[in-house]
Amino acid sequence: MNSPPTVGVLALQGAFREHKRLLQTFGAHVTEVRLPHQLGGLSGLILPGGESTTIGNLMVEYGLISAIQEFHAAGGAIFGTCAGAILLARTIHGTPPQFGEQPSLDLMDITVQRNAFGRQVDSFRTPLDVSGFETPFPAVFIRAPVIAAVGEGVEVLARHQDQIVLARQGNLLAGSFHPELTGDARIHELFLNMNRSAQAVGSGL
Ligand code: GLN
Repeated sequence: MNSPPTVGVLALQGAFREHKRLLQTFGAHVTEVRLPHQLGGLSGLILPGGESTTIGNLMVEYGLISAIQEFHAAGGAIFGTCAGAILLARTIHGTPPQFGEQPSLDLMDITVQRNAFGRQVDSFRTPLDVSGFETPFPAVFIRAPVIAAVGEGVEVLARHQDQIVLARQGNLLAGSFHPELTGDARIHELFLNMNRSAQAVGSGL
């Protein structure tokens, strides 16, 4: 087996510590990313759940939108969970009009619908059938989006009540739920395997 990849977790807002903790159980080398130069040498990046307009605005402020787009263009794998999935999407629905158009990386050929299962109090946990997993994954949905539409190159990996909640396009992975909160590491493992096929990117970033 190759040596464990170095994975960054975007650490501007939201559930980044929980992702970090789970990745460390694999012996992955994990770093927190707040500034563009911290993408150097990583093979993958996780965009955590949180509040997508807040994270997006901070990404703009710190010059991270173009830096992450360049990281991906250079071969870096990216996993967006919940708010992170919203930030990966080409098209975002459900942002209140007073926020204008929310910042996005515009990388993955998916349309997301924000807050598709209702408010914070409507959060829930459910066993989810995920393509390739032998047993259901305990998925935690917190004010979660759904993937309302996918482009041709996107593979759907899981649905909840007919709604797409996990999808992959090349080395991009987007999930509506919070896989870092359950102690079940299979989705992180899937992402780490996507990283292993990627080169460490961005010594020049
Ligand atoms: N509802 C949040 C948003 O739209 C995402 C929620 C989450 O990441 N748990 O930004």
